[in-house]
Formats: sequence, C-alpha cells, structure tokens
Amino acid sequence: MSSRTCPLCRRQNRRCTGDCEFGKYFNKRASDFENAYQIFGLNNMLKIMRAAEPHQREAAANSILDEGKIMRNNPASGCLGHELNIRAEEVSYLRVQEVLNQVLEFCRQNLSQVNPNQQVDKTSSPKKDSSS
Ligand SMILES: [Zn+2]
Repeated sequence: MSSRTCPLCRRQNRRCTGDCEFGKYFNKRASDFENAYQIFGLNNMLKIMRAAEPHQREAAANSILDEGKIMRNNPASGCLGHELNIRAEEVSYLRVQEVLNQVLEFCRQNLSQVNPNQQVDKTSSPKKDSSS
C-alpha cells in the first residue's frame, strides 16, 4: 500500500489504496496530470482510459499527459501547432542532410582527383579492411 495518493484519487477526493485501476499510469507525471486535468476534465480522462484495452492504457495515459503538456506550452495552437513545428523541423533537417550529402560527394570526387590510384568507396558507410 502506497502512502502517496495518486493524482486520479486526489482529484476524486478518494482514499488511494495504491492499487487503483488507472493511478499507476499517472503517478510518475503529476504535473502533466494537472495540465491534462485542466484541459480534458476528470470524466473525459476516465472515459478515455476505460475505452482503451488494458494493453493500450499506458499509451492512452501518455497520450493524455502529452497533450496536456503541449496545450500548456502552447495554448493557442496546441497539438496541431506542435505537429506543424515538428514537420517544419523535419523539412529543415532533410535540407541539411541534402547539403551534407552534396558536400560528401564533392569531397569524394576531389579526393579521387588528388590521388587517382586510390579507390574511393561510394557507399555511405566505411568498411573495415578484412585483409591481413
Ligand atoms: Zn489512486
């Protein structure tokens, strides 16, 4: 029996026995729970948790908590804004990768011109020399 009351029981003004049905999914992230509680409300959080199959409940709880955290950090655009930011970052990283690949190809071409007898491996990963 736990001496700490889980966030769900605390919000329901219940005595927490430590083995309540959903408390274990919310115990580790109490501050995110408060954000999610403000956004979804306790009844909706419980509805979501009850609708999830037992093997999906941890993912459902994490989804609720993550959305609460995102909404706290950006109440204007919420999860959609967060997703759009991630997509913009992805596009940016893909552009960086493209430039780095061009630099790598440039270096390979120039290295083979400096030392034409040296074979430059065109694959991306360096291979370990097995001959000895
Ligand atoms: Zn509890």
